[in-house]
Amino acid sequence: MGNMVPLAPTLERWLSGKRVGPLPERPADQPPPLLSFEFFPPRTEALEGQLWACIRRLEPLGPRFVSVTYGAGGSTHARTHATVSRLASETDLVPAAHLTCVGATREEVDEVARGYWAAGVRHIVALRGDPPPGTAYEPHPGGYRYADELVAGLRRVADFEISVAAYPEVHPSARSPEDDLDNLKRKLDAGATRAITQYFFDTATYLRFLDRCLAAGITAPIVPGIMPVSNYAQAAKFSAMCGTTVPDWLGAMFQGTENEPEVRRTVASIVAAEQVRTLQANGVDEFHFYTLNRPELTYAIAHVLGVRPRRAGVAA
Ligand code: FAD
Repeated sequence: MGNMVPLAPTLERWLSGKRVGPLPERPADQPPPLLSFEFFPPRTEALEGQLWACIRRLEPLGPRFVSVTYGAGGSTHARTHATVSRLASETDLVPAAHLTCVGATREEVDEVARGYWAAGVRHIVALRGDPPPGTAYEPHPGGYRYADELVAGLRRVADFEISVAAYPEVHPSARSPEDDLDNLKRKLDAGATRAITQYFFDTATYLRFLDRCLAAGITAPIVPGIMPVSNYAQAAKFSAMCGTTVPDWLGAMFQGTENEPEVRRTVASIVAAEQVRTLQANGVDEFHFYTLNRPELTYAIAHVLGVRPRRAGVAA
């Protein structure tokens, strides 16, 4: 008898009929998904240059809309307004302005919304907002207390398209998952047409949340928020603050890449592409990307999803 060479585990599984689970198909007639991109308003001139380079790089991908955040405690009001107004006047993109309840009266918030409407902005991402770092949220005495009240207020100001936030892992200060889902329902009932989720890394968590939304009678799109991880340490720190679980496998993937920027980018692309392809295989056809004002990972993942740049003057 000759030497018995042990079979590789995968081959052994294959021969015994235990296939590696089916990979998502790529049907030739599958239309590319709808995308939206989120930016934050720049603090300095250099960052402004970075933001606009990012916008110009992603613009040809024809996103459904692009949104600009509103800093914690309403700290970026002027910068958010300037960025959104410039998007409205200098690009063909559909801009959406994030607006929060924090630190302002209802009249002040309504005035900001009226300013957006006058500047041609028709889409608001309505949020309660986060208080300044290190403080607990307290509704402003004369303000909208929670996002559902803000949505109702915006409806009275003008016929905005309104998106709201949703939390597959439950908002950190919610009394219970059921309460959080009731809150999402209230925001949609008040007039929001779409929810965008907090980012998540465990795709099954989102799919289970979607099931819970459907069971609660929610039919509005619950668009998954995708955050390509360009800096693992920063992502882990931020995730701890906003209640997103960082699975062990993610840390393991980035381990040892601290001084390997190329490897890090490749890993980040693979992780996010795997996530969006799994979601796509589960019927999800709209994605919101937290770009962090860096275009390359988002661009590459959009490419994997079949989204191609439009040439100037050529309709989609
Ligand atoms: P809400 O929907 O009002 O809910 C907040 C919490 O309060 C929940 O736990 C809810 O269950 C509870 N709650 C609601 N109503 C009541 C009530 N009547 N009584 C008691 N509890 C209640 N933050 C910013 O500062 N700027 C941004 O630009 C920004 N953009 C975001 C974009 C997205 C897509 C997401 C997912 C989040 C964003 N955030 C932003 C963060 C967000 O502001 C925080 O997560 C904030 O803590 C909650 O906002 P919300 O709109 O979800 O609040």
